[in-house]
Amino acid sequence: MPEPATTPSIACDLLVLGSGAGGLAAAVTAAHLGLAVVLAEKEPLIGGTTAWSGGWMWVPRNPLAREAGIGEDIERPLAYLRHELGERFDEARARAYLEAAPRMVDFFRRHTALQFIDGNAIPDFHGRTPDAATGGRSVCAAPFDARRLGARRGLLRPPLAETTLWGMGIASGAELRHFLNALRKPASFAYVARRVLGYGRDLLLHRQAMRLVNGHALAGALAASAFEAGVDVRTRHAARRLLRDGARVHGAVLDGPDGPLRVEAARGVVLACGGFPHDAARKKALLPHAPSGTEHCSAAVWAATGDGLRLGESAGGIVDASQTSAAALAPVSLVPHADGTVAHFPHLIERAKPGLIAVREDGRRFVNEADSYYDFMQALLAATPAGRPVQAWLVCDHAFIRRYGLGAAKPAPLPLRGWLAGGYLRRGRTLAELAGACGIDADGLQATVARWNAMAAAGRDDDFAKGETPYNRVQGDAAAGHANPCMAPVERGPFYAVRVVPGSLGTFAGLKTDTDARVLDASGAPIPGLYAAGNDMNSLMGGRYPSGGITLGPAMTFGHLAARHAAGADLH
Ligand SMILES: Cc1cc2nc3c(=O)[nH]c(=O)nc-3n(C[C@H](O)[C@H](O)[C@H](O)COP(=O)(O)OP(=O)(O)OC[C@H]3O[C@@H](n4cnc5c(N)ncnc54)[C@H](O)[C@@H]3O)c2cc1C
Repeated sequence: MPEPATTPSIACDLLVLGSGAGGLAAAVTAAHLGLAVVLAEKEPLIGGTTAWSGGWMWVPRNPLAREAGIGEDIERPLAYLRHELGERFDEARARAYLEAAPRMVDFFRRHTALQFIDGNAIPDFHGRTPDAATGGRSVCAAPFDARRLGARRGLLRPPLAETTLWGMGIASGAELRHFLNALRKPASFAYVARRVLGYGRDLLLHRQAMRLVNGHALAGALAASAFEAGVDVRTRHAARRLLRDGARVHGAVLDGPDGPLRVEAARGVVLACGGFPHDAARKKALLPHAPSGTEHCSAAVWAATGDGLRLGESAGGIVDASQTSAAALAPVSLVPHADGTVAHFPHLIERAKPGLIAVREDGRRFVNEADSYYDFMQALLAATPAGRPVQAWLVCDHAFIRRYGLGAAKPAPLPLRGWLAGGYLRRGRTLAELAGACGIDADGLQATVARWNAMAAAGRDDDFAKGETPYNRVQGDAAAGHANPCMAPVERGPFYAVRVVPGSLGTFAGLKTDTDARVLDASGAPIPGLYAAGNDMNSLMGGRYPSGGITLGPAMTFGHLAARHAAGADLH
């Protein structure tokens, strides 16, 4: 329905919809190139799932790796993708990505508040695939000082509470290791004490953390850059429909706090609404394990409801339904909140640590637990007989849970009481008792643990090869002193388990686009004035997951490329 003629109207060069990595990268780049940019965000807060993320971006040949002396020809990561993606490999888009991504990092480093730390010791997921790297292919947002956001820092989405310590984000890598070792090493204890005291001071003075890390730092630094570059950021403005003149897209109508607002955008619109993690209808259509659309519990923000995909389709765009997996699969546990809501906690870290196994209801293992979250979920889907619920239990003993935590339950000295009382954690003095509490076959579990313990003593997983790839080992704990950094016996009760179900970090299936992030119509032609970035854009990984950071790297890069194209800047 067209709006009444009295609908207020504003004009700009580029309208960006959504304030995650894809949208903010586009907005910041466009403003830097001299365009007048409006960024509309439907939530009261900026940052989307990006603010909840680890903040890692897969960027082979990035400037930080080069400066550390890690060099490689573009053909190597390209070959890795060719092997990994098989028939889904799209050489034109993959090459465009690999060429532009290092320049994207360079651009943000030089011109914006966003700085990076290197991932020079982080391997690709699949070390046995030819041309996999053992490091140098990723970067992460560097910690960011929220004071730079000034009075607008309250507009930034805080991190997912369950991944923080009392609201304080913990950076992955060295900082996380300090937290896990705080009761063991004086240097780690001192580090943690400094961090906690600093956070306490921030709370007293500013009522929020000032030292932002991970995806929170990425979103914060991008938001600050957008404000500093003069982007007109409008929160609580949801895009409702696109404005079109024939095939050309020239703006959108937003639903704002004061009613509809028409935004005319001379250079077009960038869709960056975060894909469809919470669009039940699209999940039902594209995720076979979600027959009603509700069985898939994405860890993405609730606001990611597929709006960008629907807007793109309304202008003739096509959502690719052929991806190997339509979502960036990850096991999640369901965390009950006192107010009756449930958070979806993605299990990204503890599965690889020594002394944890994953079993199905028959009590048997089905996967190398130290493989990526995506591979874990694919294995669980393959192992689950038709008609049975897709679920598994992560099982460990008391020593493990106090050392590493389990899901949302934190390590010692934080108490487990609340997690047990609320039913999030199950506990048994014996394995049989634990099996009973979970509804797992007790004989199966006891036999599995006996076999596991024998293999752990030998340091070799004859069933699933846990601990044998560089990625496994980096995720494990070499300092724990076991023969295999990902294996230790599960031996002394009480024993604990948490149930995991299918979820994701976001979605892969999105609008088909070209190498400039232009949305394509059914004939493969670009729709004038319409771009897609982030998870509204069809993942160039074809529904596969070769390495960490393969959503944020492309989100940032294609957001950047969309803006350059809209501004008429030549990058290729
Ligand atoms: C715990 C966790 C850790 C992760 N770690 C990593 C990592 O380290 N590396 C990596 O690559 N990926 C990671 N991911 C995945 C990654 O965070 C997402 O894929 C990415 O943030 C998506 O970015 P986006 O720009 O597409 O969307 P988002 O960041 O979700 O932003 C989309 C925004 O659009 C807004 N929006 C929705 N509809 C409308 C509308 N109609 N109008 C206006 N605005 C709208 C939403 O409110 C939201 O703010 C992680 C995810 C999680 C949950």
